[in-house]
Amino acid sequence: MTGKNILVINGGSSSLKFALINDQESAPRISGLAERLGSLEAQLGWKDAAGKHSKSIAKAGHREALNELLPLVQAAAVEGLHGVGHRVVHGGEAFTGSCLIDSSVIDAIRDTIPLAPLHNPANLMGIEAALAVFPDLPQVAVFDTAFHQSLPDYAYRYAIPAALYEQHAVRRYGFHGTSHRFVSAEAAKQCQLDYHSSAWLTAHLGNGCSTCAIVDGQSRDTSMGLTPLEGVVMGTRSGDVDPNLHAHLANVMGWSLTEVTRVLNNESGLKGLSGLSNDMRTLEEAAGNDHAGAQLAIEVFCYRLAKSLASMACALPKLDGLIFTGGIGENSPLIRDKTVQHLRLLGLQLDEANNLRCLRGVAGEIQAAGSPRVLVVPTNEELQIALDTLSLIAPEGAAHA
Ligand code: ADP
Repeated sequence: MTGKNILVINGGSSSLKFALINDQESAPRISGLAERLGSLEAQLGWKDAAGKHSKSIAKAGHREALNELLPLVQAAAVEGLHGVGHRVVHGGEAFTGSCLIDSSVIDAIRDTIPLAPLHNPANLMGIEAALAVFPDLPQVAVFDTAFHQSLPDYAYRYAIPAALYEQHAVRRYGFHGTSHRFVSAEAAKQCQLDYHSSAWLTAHLGNGCSTCAIVDGQSRDTSMGLTPLEGVVMGTRSGDVDPNLHAHLANVMGWSLTEVTRVLNNESGLKGLSGLSNDMRTLEEAAGNDHAGAQLAIEVFCYRLAKSLASMACALPKLDGLIFTGGIGENSPLIRDKTVQHLRLLGLQLDEANNLRCLRGVAGEIQAAGSPRVLVVPTNEELQIALDTLSLIAPEGAAHA
């Protein structure tokens, strides 16, 4: 075996996702999740060449979980481990790209906590645990927001008093940047276009969903904003609503700000509209069985998505292709079809057979003859994090066993 091995870590408040990526291989050698950390039920689950495994790691915190998975990672990284890449949700305006982690980077991530009070402290826990367990390895932070720091001011500013931006950093940031960057670069490669003079619309459709306009390899607009709640309909998030809704619900329902925020983030979107599920597979099946809520949720999802893509088109000088990715984008011909049907004015149309063919990791072009390209490109955020990590660590850096 050859290539370099990067451990990719995504720290949550009570969980830690990990994957060992070799830069010469498309699938991780080992990946898994330590969850319910800090509790008696703490559990480590992982998948490797031998199959799926799990074990109890009662009371383990982030550091203990990393210590538990260390021997597994070392056994899979036969060439040694070359670095650790961390997903960090919010880089604010401080980070326009990925960077090597040192104490000033940790301070800047900490300074950004007011913008991501749930995510950044959790990401920091992962970083601090990894620094303790792997003190000799270079570690890199890859931010969800960094790709969107190239947005022009007229795309990132809200039309609210300027002091709220100047003194409190209230602006649009955008998320899913690692995925939008990965799939647009992949699409350019597949179409044999120069990424640095190309123009794309991307739709990342997972549990969270967002759209992006990418010109010459740079994000020029994106649907998520100050937080991931803004934009298109998602699994449990509402996406755009009237900004007066908070006040209206407080008056009519007597709900606190916390309750309104919880409902818009956790009880809305596909789940709220359908009254059934946040999972698109379940909704497609139910819609096929005449479930009215599921049918409506799918229609709203696709119409709002198409509206968002059409508005993103304002940022493009031309259109080299519309890219679908994420669990829904990669696997649902129905959602791709319904969405593209709303985009006739952009000249987009699908080829039915090719649309039906692109499932379960099968990538390809699915447009009809005469339409601009429409592509299905599986995302691989872990691989992008590993590639960023590799590009930042010294090429001659020795592997650590
Ligand atoms: P996450 O954002 O958690 O990484 P994923 O990218 O895995 O999520 O996407 C999860 C979504 O993809 C779910 O709504 C799931 O139902 C949907 N999905 C996965 N496979 C299919 C499929 N075959 N048809 C429709 N939706 C699918």
